[in-house]
Amino acid sequence: MNRIHLLPDHVANQIAAGEVVERPASVVKELVENSLDAQAARITVEIQAGGRSLVRVIDDGLGMSRDDALLSLERHATSKIQRAEDLAAIATMGFRGEALPSIASVSRFTLTTRERFVVPPLGGSEATGRPKAELQTQPVEGTQIIIHGGKILEVKAAGSAPGTTIEVRQIFFNLPARRKFLRTEETEAAHIQHYLTLAAMAYPEVAFTFQKDGRVAWQLPAIKSGAEISERLPALRERLRALYGAEQKLLAVNFTGALTTQVEPDETESFEIATTLNSQPSTLNSSLRIWGFIGAPGVSRSTREDQHLFVNRRPVENRGLNFALLEGYHTALMKGRYPVCCLFLEIDPAAVDVNIHPAKREIKFHREREVRQLMAQAVRETLLKFHGQSQSTVVRPRAEAIEKRAESEPAPEFSTPSLPQFPLPPRTVSEPAPITQPPLKMGFGQPPLNPTLPSSPEKSTAQAPSQLLTFNSQLSPPLLSVPLRLVGVIGKLYVVLESDRGLVLLDQHAAHERILFEQMLTRLEQKQQADSQKLLLPETVELSARDANFIREQLPTLGRLGVGLGEFGERTFLLDALPPFVKVSDARKFVLELVDELKAAGQEVNSLRLGEHTVAKTVCRHAVKANDPLSGPELENLVGDLRRCAMPYTCPHGRPTLIEMNFRELEKKFGRAQ
Ligand code: ADP
Ligand code: MG
Repeated sequence: MNRIHLLPDHVANQIAAGEVVERPASVVKELVENSLDAQAARITVEIQAGGRSLVRVIDDGLGMSRDDALLSLERHATSKIQRAEDLAAIATMGFRGEALPSIASVSRFTLTTRERFVVPPLGGSEATGRPKAELQTQPVEGTQIIIHGGKILEVKAAGSAPGTTIEVRQIFFNLPARRKFLRTEETEAAHIQHYLTLAAMAYPEVAFTFQKDGRVAWQLPAIKSGAEISERLPALRERLRALYGAEQKLLAVNFTGALTTQVEPDETESFEIATTLNSQPSTLNSSLRIWGFIGAPGVSRSTREDQHLFVNRRPVENRGLNFALLEGYHTALMKGRYPVCCLFLEIDPAAVDVNIHPAKREIKFHREREVRQLMAQAVRETLLKFHGQSQSTVVRPRAEAIEKRAESEPAPEFSTPSLPQFPLPPRTVSEPAPITQPPLKMGFGQPPLNPTLPSSPEKSTAQAPSQLLTFNSQLSPPLLSVPLRLVGVIGKLYVVLESDRGLVLLDQHAAHERILFEQMLTRLEQKQQADSQKLLLPETVELSARDANFIREQLPTLGRLGVGLGEFGERTFLLDALPPFVKVSDARKFVLELVDELKAAGQEVNSLRLGEHTVAKTVCRHAVKANDPLSGPELENLVGDLRRCAMPYTCPHGRPTLIEMNFRELEKKFGRAQ
């Protein structure tokens, strides 16, 4: 007896739905993607009970003829690709032809559609490069199809506005086991809202309305955009403001890099499940565009919640890109914090595989490593530009050097860009600082600056960051390029300063750490060796076998950074030198803490960044811990040294060095202003 038989369509569709339709938010995602693919200029999403009882998506897109509407409900029916080769260059959101039949098989489904009969009006859709609607001269009749659990109940003519409305009621009504797994209405609604946020970011030129249980939750007007990044950036900023409202310091990113080298398939690293599709040696020579917004130094979150990445307008999750972002921020981000960003990568569709995940959430780059490097570089250059570096002379050559290094040595698969050189003779902070910059307007007991005074010479010569954009569209020069006056020190740690904008607090330790860190790395770059001082009394330190193995690997790096630690037996090490600014009373404790911190850093960053920078960071922290409170002139030097840093606004661990409270904020706090 034959035991194998083909599954009936509705069963096959339900199985496919298992992958595509996870929850109401997946329905919203598939339907909105279809509307976007159909060049809608306005999309309305209505849900009831978190989408469990109803999801309705209304668009004014191309619509479908009756035949097409019927066909759209068949499995593997799509208008978006025709041949297998088309998979290599997908320019639409959809292409699998699975969503509609899958959704219809697990819900009470109504499709109402009518073809557009005029060319779409100017606006959004032209900018996207999607094909124009075909010109029709006759108004056409609409079609309505009703399906319950995959069975067609009715197909009829229906009057409707041009476009498509899809209603999905009682999702999983015929699959009680899956319905049981749905979460609370609030949770499901939050998932829907999250997806809509992403869609709204990617398509500012499309108007979105979101209704929850009959109430309008959002109404986002269409924003005029264009094909050029210079038009799309302001549109995105406007959309972000509409979505978040709040004032957030964001920096605009606009970066173009080239993907040039040939990569053999086995060299393409993947963090996701790799498919072999299209992994022949690639001969692309295309550019990679990265644009959008990233948080200014000090703007971060404890989760990836506000980290939004898009590849060719598709919201994606990709571990490589996440790493690249962290790499780009490097020391400008605190441990355990995540960047805030909304970044768009534009890359030849042939250089990405979007067909590795049923919901297309994950993607794979054929040139993962190059893309990651460019991403980190884009972020880094934006931050450096904000910090007031002239990146054209400083960063580019360094970045190229890194790329070359990465090519020649395969070991560190993700190279860490080192700091750019800054015009600073290496020295410790306690030495008198040669004045190479305009002198600080600082000193105890001077009359306070008048906030209404015209800007001082320093201010006018300061490089205003063209990239700084805050949500209230105010442009203000970075804090360290305006004159600061020393007011005093509180708690032996916080230096109180004032600028003509308001109050500034400086964390003495954080600032000191940043300065030492950059000085150490400069020294290393110039002499391959940071300063080191022999200890009068070398000390032995015994470690556990595991720690001993770990630290043995780090000895050369430690040595280069001035920590003279040598093997002195199986598990014993001899500490005989330290950087001059590190004063340790208990050598053993110092080494043990160093081991712990390096290990922790190693785990956290997947050992990719465990190198000179991590060691330097750790050593600097110890230096600063033992530091005495500073007095007036030393504080002035501290601020002066900080000004010469490449990344002055955060300590090497990403904590802020400075906090500013401007007069407006002060007035708000004192109830003088709203
Ligand atoms: P895919 O999007 O992968 O092609 P779907 O099952 O989501 O597959 O949709 C099948 C087809 O139905 C699409 O290719 C498209 O031609 C058509 N379609 C779906 N939704 C709409 C819509 N909102 N407006 C116009 N056409 C649509
Ligand atoms: Mg689709």
